[in-house]
Amino acid sequence: MNNGINEFINMHSEKKYAEIVILEYNFDKIFHYCIPQDLKDRISLGSRVTIPFRGKVTTGCVVGFLAESDVKNLKDIAQITDKKPLLTPRVIRLTQWISNYYLCSWEKTLNYVIPKTRRAWLKKFDITDISPQKPTRLPENDKSPEKEIIFSAEEIKEKSPLKEIENIINNKKFQTILIRGNDFNSRMKIYLRCIRKTLKEGKQAIILAPTESHLSELAGLLVKEFKDNMVVFDEKIDQKAKYQKWIKIRNSQVNIALGMRSSIFVPFDRLGLIIVEREHSSLYKEERSPRYNAREVALKRAELENIPLFLSSETPSVESYWNVWENRFLEAELNSGGERENLLKKTIIDMTREKSKKKIISYKLQQAISRSLKNKRQVVLFLNKRGFSSFMICSQCGHIPKCPNCNTSLSYHLDVQKRAQLICHNCGKRVKVTDVCAKCGSKEIRPLGMGTQKLESEIRKMFTKAEIRRLDRDSLIKDNDYRKILEEFNQGNTDILVGTQMVLKGVDFNNVDLIGIISADTLLNLPDYRSEEKTFQLLSEVISSLREISFPKEVIIQTFNPEDHCIVALKEQDYNYFYQKEIELRKELDYPPFTHIIKIMILGEEKEAVKQRAEYLISYLESLRKDKESAEFKLLGAVDMVLWKSRNNIKVQFLIKVKDLERFNKAFKKNYDKMLSKHFDQRNRLTIDVDPVRMI
Ligand SMILES: [Zn+2]
Ligand SMILES: [Zn+2]
Repeated sequence: MNNGINEFINMHSEKKYAEIVILEYNFDKIFHYCIPQDLKDRISLGSRVTIPFRGKVTTGCVVGFLAESDVKNLKDIAQITDKKPLLTPRVIRLTQWISNYYLCSWEKTLNYVIPKTRRAWLKKFDITDISPQKPTRLPENDKSPEKEIIFSAEEIKEKSPLKEIENIINNKKFQTILIRGNDFNSRMKIYLRCIRKTLKEGKQAIILAPTESHLSELAGLLVKEFKDNMVVFDEKIDQKAKYQKWIKIRNSQVNIALGMRSSIFVPFDRLGLIIVEREHSSLYKEERSPRYNAREVALKRAELENIPLFLSSETPSVESYWNVWENRFLEAELNSGGERENLLKKTIIDMTREKSKKKIISYKLQQAISRSLKNKRQVVLFLNKRGFSSFMICSQCGHIPKCPNCNTSLSYHLDVQKRAQLICHNCGKRVKVTDVCAKCGSKEIRPLGMGTQKLESEIRKMFTKAEIRRLDRDSLIKDNDYRKILEEFNQGNTDILVGTQMVLKGVDFNNVDLIGIISADTLLNLPDYRSEEKTFQLLSEVISSLREISFPKEVIIQTFNPEDHCIVALKEQDYNYFYQKEIELRKELDYPPFTHIIKIMILGEEKEAVKQRAEYLISYLESLRKDKESAEFKLLGAVDMVLWKSRNNIKVQFLIKVKDLERFNKAFKKNYDKMLSKHFDQRNRLTIDVDPVRMI
């Protein structure tokens, strides 16, 4: 592996011609230019250059050098923009990998990665010519043949996986370790020690966090120790500040970068460690082009740099844990149970046994709320954000109609004539709605789907004297509303808070002794093969919010499917049980990680135009089957094409299932540009999402 990189860096030793990606036009193509004699010493990989192109002057990025070119009449590069390139050779290689893997142009990827630069900034904050800091090596006589100790013998005796972590850091080679720990502070302690060690070796570190609040939590702790030696890329950072921080990095003035997904690209040239905190988070996926997942990119970067990678989570992604089982990743389990388990009660309510007609709040939950109010504690009632679509459920037995092909819940839709239909979002299968449950024969089968507003009004009817507030996107008309609702709750003025996922941000759970999860089913039955995994992760996080325990607390989960493996695993707090059941299902139905999914979406204003584009695309995909160099794949949703209305647009979606993604992508890219420019434009847009995290 390492040889491959060196080869890549050295193979262009003779700089006669440069391979350039043009940054101002969306071509997925590399152009050749001559390097004039006077630029030869200053040009390097990643340099931005000014070049003549089709009678105009434009900007490009140098991605390679050649001793020979078979293109005739090459033009000269006019100028070099940056004194020192903003990208390192390995980051360039990484962007190339992204463009191949995620099927987007190299130009788009480079433009995404490189901070936008104004001409004026170039003079003001240019890279100084100071040579990179020498690594702070230990004095000669201090070098012992023994590997250095990061954790003490007692610490390792108490938690044996620490030894594994220490070995990885000492080996300084590419190796991924999945750290499973439910205690943020003990994870933090490991990070601090390992970063310290990495810096001592003269190396640099990148730490990723999924959200702004996790980022500031980490930043607060890291800044204390590393002060000016680190840069933080927060959500609000503008291009100018980003550019300045990149210059600092290129000048070797800082050695730690902390940020969200796009910080995986920061141009350290002596990178020694990457840490991805809460690796399971779906927010590591970029939802605009290039649609990369920072966790996967971190894995690729660690491989290219030949350095250790820490992935850490309390509830690892199924993909990552599968890699542990396949012996590609190591695992360090640091979970500690202890006292909190005894004080935290988890109750599952089987809603099929509820007598009340409405079946929104069970009798048990109602009683628990009364008890909390009497004890002057606070209550949080949690409801999934309003689903994209609803589904049908039998309130007698909990049966949910599912697609016979895909096993995901069928979505309930009303057509233009207000006739009900069940549709599979994966493969387009349509099923007639019956009013009798297929499993138990009862007539109590109907669409489920409830908003927070309805829940709030039910609660108000039940608890007329309580102070009740609602926290969801609809209830927040002004920016201030959110802060006001939080403040009121955190000061103890609110008794019951009803809300969506938003309650996980900023709510102080110290005085909360009851969390009610109103309907686990609305989460479990999103039309997405990951719905079980996402529910498990989300509800584990909800349960974790009661972590600081000094008095008894309770989580009540209402569900029509108490036997579901996700619910059982939540109750027992047993990740392994969840994983084993989930991976069996994925294997049986050929879902990731056993295959790759590519989501293809066409969006346009007119139905006929969208349909026509979809047919072009399908025939393009079908033509790939004749290409011997392509891989086998399945195309779902193309036979029974479903056109959805999405706001003012018409949308059509297909899924491709493919095992050998690399091979498929190569074949797909061959004539893709031509097909794209011929049939698609701003009015009929095509988006391609490899390894999507959201299915609709
Ligand atoms: Zn289906
Ligand atoms: Zn039934």
